[in-house]
This record gives sequence, C-alpha cells and structure tokens, in this order.
Amino acid sequence: MLGVDLASSSPTAPAAATSPVWRSSSKVEKYARMPITPVTLQELLQMGETHDLVSSARFARHELPKRMARRVKALQNLPFIVGVNPHIKSVYDLYHDSLSALLALPEPVDTKSQIVFTEELRKLVGAHQEVIPKLAKGFKECGKYMSKHAKTEFLDNMIHARIGIRGSLGGTSPLLASVELFTTSQLHLTSFLYTVIAEHHLSLDSPSSNYIGVINTRLSPASLISSVAQYSRDLCELNYGGSAPEFTVTGHTDTVVAYIGVHLEYIFMELMKNAMRATVEFSSKTGRLEHPPVEIVVCKSHEEVVIRVRDQGGGISQKDLPHIWDYSYTTVPKYDDSNGIFDTQARMGMQAGVGGPMAGLGFGLPMSRIYAKYFQGSLEIRSIEGYGCDVFLRVPNILGSSHVIED
Ligand code: ADP
Ligand code: MG
Repeated sequence: MLGVDLASSSPTAPAAATSPVWRSSSKVEKYARMPITPVTLQELLQMGETHDLVSSARFARHELPKRMARRVKALQNLPFIVGVNPHIKSVYDLYHDSLSALLALPEPVDTKSQIVFTEELRKLVGAHQEVIPKLAKGFKECGKYMSKHAKTEFLDNMIHARIGIRGSLGGTSPLLASVELFTTSQLHLTSFLYTVIAEHHLSLDSPSSNYIGVINTRLSPASLISSVAQYSRDLCELNYGGSAPEFTVTGHTDTVVAYIGVHLEYIFMELMKNAMRATVEFSSKTGRLEHPPVEIVVCKSHEEVVIRVRDQGGGISQKDLPHIWDYSYTTVPKYDDSNGIFDTQARMGMQAGVGGPMAGLGFGLPMSRIYAKYFQGSLEIRSIEGYGCDVFLRVPNILGSSHVIED
C-alpha cells in the first residue's frame, strides 16, 4: 500500500500510554496538534465556482491529515479493553493507514499531480465506508467499559469529524445496501462515497448539474423526503411481513434549498424508519386494524426550513425518553428476548438489514442530530405517550450564509 511509515520518524517515541497496541508516531502527534482551518459553506461554493481543481486538491491535502490524525489520537486514547476490540482496532488501522497514504502523496501543484491526488483520495474514501457500522458493533460489545459521558463524547467527536472528512457516513445508509430498491432519480447516489472536504473536491472533479461540489443548489426537501419515505415503506414491508403505513407530504412542497443532500437524506431516512416502525408496532400492540399515515410537513421561512414528521406510533414512554439520544440505545428487544413480536431472527434481520437496517443499532437519532446541528440546525422530538411523536427538523437555508464547518 502506498504510504509512509508514520512511526519511522520517531523510533524512540514511547508507545501511547493507554495502549501498547498502537503504533507510536511523532507525525500523528504533529498533525493532530495543528489547528484545523474552518470552512464555510460559502467558501465551498466559491471554491466550486472557480473550478480550480489544483487549489481544491491542495486544500484537501492540507486539511485531511490534520483531521485524520486527531481521530487516530482519539482512538489511541480509548481504554485498552475498548481499543483492542477487533471492530475498533480495524477502524484504528484504517485511519492510521489512510493518514500514512495521504501524507505520502505529493503536493498537488499542477494538473498531473492533482489527478494523482484525486485518484488516491477516491480510493481512500471508498475504504472508509464501513467505519460507522464497525464503531457501532465495537461499542455494543465493549462500550460498557467506558462511562456513558466518555463514550458519547468520543462518538460525537468521531462522527462529527467524519462528516467533515467524508460528508456522508457511507456504510450506514440502507441505500448503499440495496440501491436497486430505490428507484428515484432525485438522489445523487454517487455522493455517498464522498466527503465534505474530500467529497467536495471529488465532486468538483466530476461536475453535475445543480451541484456546486457537494452542495445541491436546488434541493427539494419534499421530493427527497417522499423518495426516502417510499423506500422506508419498502424496508418496513420487508421487515414486517408486508405491513407499512402510508405517508403524506404537505406544506411548502415546492420549496427548494441549497444543502448537502446526503445529510438531509440520512436524517429523513432515520426519522421515517422510526416513525414507521413505531406505527406498525403500536398497531400490533393495540390491535389497531389500519395504520394511520405518517404526516410530513415542509415549511420554509425566511431563515430556515422546518420539516415536521408526525406519527401515531404510541409515542415514547417517560422511562425511555431520557435515553433516546444515547448511542446504542434501542427498544428493539435483545437477542435472548423471545417475548416481544421480534424473535432473534427478526432482530438480526432488522439490524443486518433485509434491504438495509430497519432499527436496532440505536444510532439513528444521535447521529441524525449531529447531522442536523452540523450547519446550526436542530432536531427535537415531542412525544405524547400512548399516541405518537412529532419530530421537528430545522435546517438553515445555507445559500448566502456563512455557517462554519468545524472539526
Ligand atoms: P433504533 O431505531 O436503532 O432503535 P434510534 O436512535 O433511531 O435507534 O431510536 C432510539 C429509540 O427511540 C428507538 O428504539 C425507539 O424506542 C425510540 N423512538 C425513536 N423514534 C420514535 C418514534 N417516532 N416513535 C416511538 N419511539 C421512537
Ligand atoms: Mg432508528
């Protein structure tokens, strides 16, 4: 594999205090300490408008190692017992190797070196698809060895940074698992493999209409959520033996915004899966003969776009409510629970995904909120126990604003 030996520059450096399995490296230390250059969406748009691929590649070459080195450090700082978990360890190896590969690439100074860089970046981004499912599995297995606060902080930072590095979370999307089920042309599916910084550069390299880099300048929230809801129905039917609620999309359905489509799509998907699962299970529990539809409203004001997803899935109990934003928190029964409507096989099916995971990882809500907050939006849930939930997603209309992408 193309790469520099990150450890070679400091043969005498001590191993990271927390764990002897990590390869020590002064390069990791050096890059992790460098300040990250914040980027506004406006700058991304400007970068796109100039069509200057060499500058864009150079920016990615400077920024990505710093972000990756921080992730390597964060993984090194995990408690030993967590760090040696095979899933977590493989994520560590991937970040470590990617950092070394990135640093080995020559500075993009002209078209030729830009092409070399872009090709390598494309491969690298592809290699990172499975990171989030691996983290989810790893933390499910050994998260108990960390305090809830430490675990949440680690995962929040990891995922937040990943959005900065990748732009989309790749492997977690059911669409990747079964793109063929999804028959919409509105989605820019290729962008799943990309990144905000890396993706932006790669998208500039392969321009498509209505896009400036990763930013879809004519994104219709109503069309996108309709497509996602339809896909989610298919998934629901697969998981619940042909049963799924209908949905309606009303309000300002002709609204068009400038936003990163994969971010909205990820959130929509998680919200729709939750709403549909709750509706079907509540019908089963209460003997309701017909599923009430999931009602989606899109509303655009001067500053923001609000999407409300309303279901009649019985709401969330007071007991569960404080936990729903925790990573790995799920009310899908455990493997050995044979009482609920799910048996072991059903749960495994839901997670492994007949057509993609329906529920059971407990990552949907916390990750959706990170996406929502990334550009200063928000995600809130109001529950009426015994009736249903209202979920409010607020996203700014970023065109012309200066929302900052941080770490
Ligand atoms: P998962 O769907 O994998 O369980 P999430 O983070 O998406 O994980 O949701 C966590 C939990 O929050 C769910 O298991 C469920 O109990 C509850 N929940 C989320 N959305 C709803 C909803 N619309 N209605 C009822 N419960 C919900
Ligand atoms: Mg969910």
